[in-house]
Amino acid sequence: MQQVLVIEDSKFFLRTLLNALRNQFPQLRFVGAEDWAQAQAALAQEHFDLIISDLTLRDSDGHHVELLVEKGERVIVLTAHADADNRHRFNQLNIIDYILKDYSFEYLFSLIHRLVNNVGKRVLLVDDSKTMRLNMRRMLNLMNLTVDEVENGQQALDRLEEQKYDLLLLDYEMPELDGIQTLQQLRCHHSKLRLPVIAISAMEQQETVVLFLKAGANDFINKPFSREEFLVRVNNQLDMLDAAQRIERLAITDPLTGLYNRNFLYEMLPLMIAEAHRYEKPLSLIILDVDHFKQFNDTWGHDVGDLVLKHVAKLLQNNIRSADIPCRYGGEEFVIVLPDTHLENAVRAAEKIRNVVEDTPLVLEDQPEPLRVTLSLGVAELKKEDTLDTLIRRADQALYAAKRGGRNRTEVAH
Ligand code: GH3
Ligand code: MG
Ligand code: MG
Ligand code: MG
Repeated sequence: MQQVLVIEDSKFFLRTLLNALRNQFPQLRFVGAEDWAQAQAALAQEHFDLIISDLTLRDSDGHHVELLVEKGERVIVLTAHADADNRHRFNQLNIIDYILKDYSFEYLFSLIHRLVNNVGKRVLLVDDSKTMRLNMRRMLNLMNLTVDEVENGQQALDRLEEQKYDLLLLDYEMPELDGIQTLQQLRCHHSKLRLPVIAISAMEQQETVVLFLKAGANDFINKPFSREEFLVRVNNQLDMLDAAQRIERLAITDPLTGLYNRNFLYEMLPLMIAEAHRYEKPLSLIILDVDHFKQFNDTWGHDVGDLVLKHVAKLLQNNIRSADIPCRYGGEEFVIVLPDTHLENAVRAAEKIRNVVEDTPLVLEDQPEPLRVTLSLGVAELKKEDTLDTLIRRADQALYAAKRGGRNRTEVAH
């Protein structure tokens, strides 16, 4: 998603809409056209990933929307009226959706958000009817989703072993394993928060809806359904998935520095220690603490203290290997976990960090003198008898030795 064409013949409305869109999506390029002729000229020049168009224009009664759809363009229609006739017309057309002009722009924004965030997302269609699959695939492709299809429950379970999906559309009536049996099995391995499932059943099978929901469906659609309903239900599930992922990310991220937080360390490190023990692989840990950090706060204020922490975090991130895991452990203390690393190389890593921080003073906008920052570091390598607690304790003792030894230095745990 990069370029969007907006066709609207009211100059004022076009300008307002373009401003709002540019504000909301600074990463996208929006081009305006005031009639179909201008739009055609723009389309002849370049490709647009999305076209947002008024239904009636000076030089078109809505016929241009059909032309665009026939050419395979992704279209969202703006309209002043959504009476039954119009809605019926829109549901026949292969457009993404229609938006009422007197709505606020919120719905349009959420739709564009979905189109942007759907890139790279993958949906699995599980239905024995080829026609159904084709119809659904068309709509999902319009929404920038990647679509795979299988025709029964067993194939779906097999496919889930090989490929990660962001959404499953699951029919009820299928040969061999029906939809509910399939769902019961897949929910043993895939939670509702990580893999949303929309169940599909025929209108006359009301009781299947309850069974589907009890088996762990996130939502359901009755056949036959309109494009409009299908789109709204799919979008809701994808919005929920994004929200769940955002919350998961927040729970393990330190908001100030963007590094992993202590929660993450305590979730992740036991698994890594267990693996290192099991395969007899090395693992090392560095604990580091900013020297005399309190003085930054006391002299320059808490905000500058925060900047120092961000500065250190950034230098850490830029000076470790991609497999190393940097965390903010507490106030001005950081931990770096170094998998597959013996003590000797961990000490090298620690010294590199110490030197980089010492050699990169923090330049503040209104301060002529850059702030000199130094670190004290403790390094420990995992021993056979180590647990999470003893490993951290040994590294911490080394850190204290570094503080006692004069700061701005690295000490090793024995
Ligand atoms: P040492 O060299 O012995 O480590 O001395 P120090 O001053 O760095 O250590 P001390 O533990 O005395 O002070 C740490 C200070 O860090 C105290 C606390 O108020 C401050 N601090 C903790 N978290 C934050 C934060 O998120 N932002 C800011 N600005 N300060 C913080
Ligand atoms: Mg079926
Ligand atoms: Mg300190
Ligand atoms: Mg401290």
